[in-house]
Amino acid sequence: MPDFPLPPGSTIGVLGGGQLGRMLALAAARLGFDVAILDPEPDAPAARVAAHAIVAAYDDPEGLKALADVSDVITFEFENVPAAALDRLAELGAAVAPDARALGIAQDRLAEKTFLNGAGAPTVGFAAVDSVADLRAALANLGAPLLLKTRRGGYDGKGQIWVHGAGGATTAWKALGGQPCVAETPADFRREVAVVAARGRSGEIALYPLTESHHEAGILRRARAPASATPRVLAEAERIVATILAALDYVGVIGVEMFERDDGKLLVNEFAPRVHNTGHWTLDGCEVDQFEQHIRAIAGWPLGPTEALAQVEMTNLLGEEANAWRKLAQEPETRLWLYGKGEARPGRKMGHVNRLTPLPR
Ligand code: AMP
Repeated sequence: MPDFPLPPGSTIGVLGGGQLGRMLALAAARLGFDVAILDPEPDAPAARVAAHAIVAAYDDPEGLKALADVSDVITFEFENVPAAALDRLAELGAAVAPDARALGIAQDRLAEKTFLNGAGAPTVGFAAVDSVADLRAALANLGAPLLLKTRRGGYDGKGQIWVHGAGGATTAWKALGGQPCVAETPADFRREVAVVAARGRSGEIALYPLTESHHEAGILRRARAPASATPRVLAEAERIVATILAALDYVGVIGVEMFERDDGKLLVNEFAPRVHNTGHWTLDGCEVDQFEQHIRAIAGWPLGPTEALAQVEMTNLLGEEANAWRKLAQEPETRLWLYGKGEARPGRKMGHVNRLTPLPR
């Protein structure tokens, strides 16, 4: 283990070279760190702004060794990094944060919900589904409809399907490829909210203000922050996030997505053990944004202030929407972030904009 805090000039390794890695690398550079990116793609967005780029599969032993050799601490920006990669890094003596346990729990929706309930964070009702018979039993026990989700690998609304009754069980099971699933009761939410927070190496925590998130076709479209909420909801969100961070003995930034019901009850949908799209507004809305905060946390630095300095609406630029950069660059209240990705495939996150207005007095 290195001595923390890591001094400037140290190198931060990142598994994954997408936009999250790119924004982490930019933040790390500002604090005087170098970044090494490991990604299977030669032209990864983060690799192009990093000091070291290792092009290798996530489970390639030589690539992982090269990353461990050059890095003082290693993190990840991609949630589907194989657990074996973190095990290998641990064998090599690398300091990895967040740790393999947090990643392993977040990668499996069943383990995640079981962990959350055990830690005192409420979720929707759920049941493990490993067969059509399990799905029928879940419908009998929990009622219909249920949202069937693959336990692993789902993202941006992929790998999930509503099941409206026992008659639809076989079709739904086959539609998801007959793989281990979890069936969830409907959240019946009024809105979706998220909290991005950080926990440092000495256990201190810092939460960004509550964010209201809007999804379309399973993909985050917009996030607004700070979201107004009753003191009771704010306190409960804080309690839930602090509980999760402590139960994981977590180091780094986490994104916790929640449903807010009409009665103000909060249910956790999932957490991401990394910087999060619902926290991109902090880039322009806070003194220390979520990317710098993550670097500070894993490097053993003190956490920075998280208050909002402006009201921010973040909008993701999907596919060809990023082609509007000329117009967006002319808007004085709009901060433009582009990820340097080549092909503008439909739905692909190419960038985002933060639109700032003064905080209400
Ligand atoms: P997820 O892949 O779990 O993040 O889900 C993607 C989106 O599907 C969420 O942001 C919600 O809009 C919706 N969703 C997920 N789980 C539920 C649920 N149990 N009930 C209702 N809507 C859900």
